[in-house]
Order: sequence, then structure tokens, then C-alpha cells
Amino acid sequence: MPMTFYTLLVPCTFLLFMFAYGACVGSLVNVLVYRLPRGMGVVRPASKCPNCGTKLTFRENIPILGWLLLRGKCRFCKQPISVEYPLVETAVALLFATLYLLFFGLPEMGRGPWFDLLQPEWALNGLASSWPELVVIMLLFGALTAVTLIDARTAQIPLVLVWAPALLALVFHVGHAIVVQVRHGGPVAELGTLGWRLADGTRWMAAPGQIWSIPTAGIHHWWFVGMALGGTVGLGAALVLLEIGLVRRSFADYDEWEAKARAAAGGRRDQAEGEQALKCGEDSVLPEVTAPEVVASGTATDAEMWIQYPFARREMLKEMAFVAMPLALAIVGMWLAPWLVERVYGPYSRTDPFSMDRIPPVNVPLWLSVLSGVLGGYLIGGAVVWGVRIVGSLAFGKEALGLGDVHLVAAIGACVGWIDAILGFFAAAFVGLAWTLLGAVLRGRMGRTLPYGPYIAVATLLVVVGKPGIEWILERLSGVPINLP
Ligand SMILES: [Zn+2]
Repeated sequence: MPMTFYTLLVPCTFLLFMFAYGACVGSLVNVLVYRLPRGMGVVRPASKCPNCGTKLTFRENIPILGWLLLRGKCRFCKQPISVEYPLVETAVALLFATLYLLFFGLPEMGRGPWFDLLQPEWALNGLASSWPELVVIMLLFGALTAVTLIDARTAQIPLVLVWAPALLALVFHVGHAIVVQVRHGGPVAELGTLGWRLADGTRWMAAPGQIWSIPTAGIHHWWFVGMALGGTVGLGAALVLLEIGLVRRSFADYDEWEAKARAAAGGRRDQAEGEQALKCGEDSVLPEVTAPEVVASGTATDAEMWIQYPFARREMLKEMAFVAMPLALAIVGMWLAPWLVERVYGPYSRTDPFSMDRIPPVNVPLWLSVLSGVLGGYLIGGAVVWGVRIVGSLAFGKEALGLGDVHLVAAIGACVGWIDAILGFFAAAFVGLAWTLLGAVLRGRMGRTLPYGPYIAVATLLVVVGKPGIEWILERLSGVPINLP
């Protein structure tokens, strides 16, 4: 299709809209980053100057432009307003515009070797069919922007920032699947490894080997449905046990221990703080992935107190007791679901010669498959990080990774599926390494190590945006179609 005014008009209009939408989300990110760590409400009070309390007018509240309008100073007291606000708004606006451009905009402007380079398979359905997926990805990265800024400063991840995108993924992915199922029927036939034909003949593109933009149970894997539903029930049961006290909360005595340790250390203040932290710990080996420094309200020593906490191994036993419940019910569900299907609908008939799957007597409905994909993404993403945390903490005797990171990767798994969530989690180590080396080059010394959340956020973005490009390169090198899971 030649590039004309009209083929450019629609994508460019959408591009402007996505930029404006991103700026608004960036503005919300600013509010969250300022208010969540301070325990303030998000909707109220109205935005005002932190110095003199003058309320912002409607015009001054406009993202990016508001700050420019005020020339970076409060209208009343002339105190400077941080340039971080318009920068964050611009960054999220550019992020949203770029995601739209790569996934939909460039491919719509004209096909060519470069235009669809970074388009994932599911985006081939077009924006009109795939906008709920784009919304989930955009709001995930909006939330990850806020997580990055808050985690880098406070080494905390507010749970609302991970629960909100996870819940949104559940509603949008499953809601969209229900709409597709009602309108077109479920997927009926495989078209190679890319897409499916829906019952009414519509061609439906998906993630490689999948039926949706995220990895799901597919149409045959009842065991995955059982695993996801069983694990979710188990997670609920474990939370109930935690609530009534049958399973105990880990690190419950940490604050008490810290207060005592701090009082005991009070008399030895004159010692070099860093040295003291190392001497008191039973083991000075620090797992590279931890070290949440940079606590805004305290000194480095305050942040390093947790390293000396001597009971990390004991606390892991409590966490294993919690994890055991969803793990056990996931395994039970994995066996129970295919068994139930056989009991109700008859035996699994034959083996698919292509995939070697045993074909069930009845297909998994699309909505249930996608529901399992979202729940499974949450559970598998969380389980892998929690597993690393438990093994790391047992090995080092110190808390390895935060529970916030477990929540974070679980939510990413709900939004983009378990495969990308796990890839992002492990790629985060390399992002962290690159950041540290970059700091070393730029400043001539090793920089401060950030908490792990920002690395996970950046790595996830690289995975989501970079995978189609890596597929493209591998295809050009090998000459055969390549679909990364
Ligand atoms: Zn002011």
C-alpha cells in the first residue's frame, strides 16, 4: 500500500491520541509517586503547591503544558516545581506513542521489511480487534513507571500498583475473550503455529503456538486449566489460613528486632557505619540481587539493618508453609481437570501428530482458556520469583529479593503471560549489571545498587518490545519462520 495522506491520517491521529493518553497516565503516575509513599489519598485532596499549598487551576493541571505554562514555578510563592513532573509525563507519553507505533501504527502505514519489524503476532488482528490487549500493556507499563520511581527511592512497592494492573488484565483479557467467543465462536482449527480460525471463519492471530496474545491453556490443555484454577483456590485458602493465624506471617518480629538492635548499637555510633554493618552480620556475603539502599528518609545504615536480621532461614519455613497450599492444589487440579473431562465427556481419543498432545473429547472454551492464562501467568510468575527468594534466602541466610518483587512479577505474568514475565525477571539481572557498569563508566566508580523492581520493569519492557525484533533477526539469519514462545 503506497503511503498517502489518507493512509497516514488515521495512524497519526491515533498517535496523537496515544501521546495525550500517555501524558495523562504520566500525570497520574506523578500523583501516585508523590502520594502513595506518604499514605495520602489519590483522588483527594486536589493537587497543590507542596510549599505554600496554593491549589492548581484546571489549566495548570494539564500534563506537560501546565508545568511549561507556570515556567516551572509556583504561581503564588514562586518556589520551583520539580522538572521531574513534566519529564515523567513526557516519558509515559512517548512510551505509549511508541508502543502504538510499533504494534499498530507503522504496520498500518505500509508493509515493508522495516515497518512490521517489531509487531507481535497478536497485533496482526488490528487495533480494532486488539485494543484491550494494548490497554493492558500500556497500563502495566504506566504502573511499572510508578513502581520504578517509588522502589528506587523507598525500596518499597505499594501493592495497589501491582494489584491494579493484575485485576485490569483479568477483566480485559477475559472480557475480550468472552466478546470474541460470543461474536465469532471459539477457535476451531489451527493455522500453522501463528493463528487460528474462529468458528465463523474469522482468522485470529495469537502469540506463537497460542490462541491469545498471552500463553493460555490452548484448546486441548485441560491440565493447565486445572493447574491455574487449583492454584488460585489454593492461594485463596492460604490467605484465609494466614488471616486466622494457622499459617504465620513471615518477618512479623522484624520491627521489634530492629528496634532492639538499634538500641544496642546506639552506644557504638562513632564506629564507621558501613564497617559495623558488615561486622555484626553473621556472614558478609551479600547476594547481588538484593541491597535496597537509598531509603529516602534514612541513612544507608538504616537501609542495611535488614542484612543483620539473623532469622531469615527460619522465616523461609513460614513462607514455604504458605506456598505449599497453592502448590499442592495446583498439582491436584492438574490431574483432576483432565480426569473430570474424561468422566463427563468420554476418553481422550487420539494424539495430535504435530504437537503430540492427547486430544480431549471437548475443547477448552476460549474464555476459560484465557482465564487460565491470566491466573496461570500470575501464579507461575509469582511462584518462580518466590522460589528464587526462598532458595536464595536459605542459601545466604539473608532475605534475598523482596516479597514486593514476587507481587510484581506475578502481576506482570497476569498482564503479558508467564513466559514474558519469567524472561523479564531473569533478564533483569543483566539490566542491573548494565546499569552498574554504566554508573562505573560515567562516574568512575560503582554506582548505588537500585532495588530489583526498576530492573524488572525495564527488562519486561525490553522483552515485550524486543521479542518480535529478535524473531525477525533470527528468521533473516536462518531463513525459516521462527516463533519464540
Ligand atoms: Zn507555592
